[in-house]
Amino acid sequence: MIFTNFREIDKLGRIVISKDIRRHLNIHAGDVLQINAEGESIIIKKAEKKCLFCNADENLVELDGKSVCRDCVEKLRALT
Ligand SMILES: [Zn+2]
Repeated sequence: MIFTNFREIDKLGRIVISKDIRRHLNIHAGDVLQINAEGESIIIKKAEKKCLFCNADENLVELDGKSVCRDCVEKLRALT
């Protein structure tokens, strides 16, 4: 399914992502989006949750809004 919207960018550089696209991609307020510029295009996608230290994407726990895997939690614990 392809969604196409035309949106005006505001003075602060913000755009609104339409409700139908947010619903389709399961994007909610507070989610983090990754924004890449590629040639003449801007690609916005939902950021994948990965471990802050090793980029693992499994066994994650949240700490102050950051994702850390349980292996790195154990490594940090061993430092103390
Ligand atoms: Zn990790």
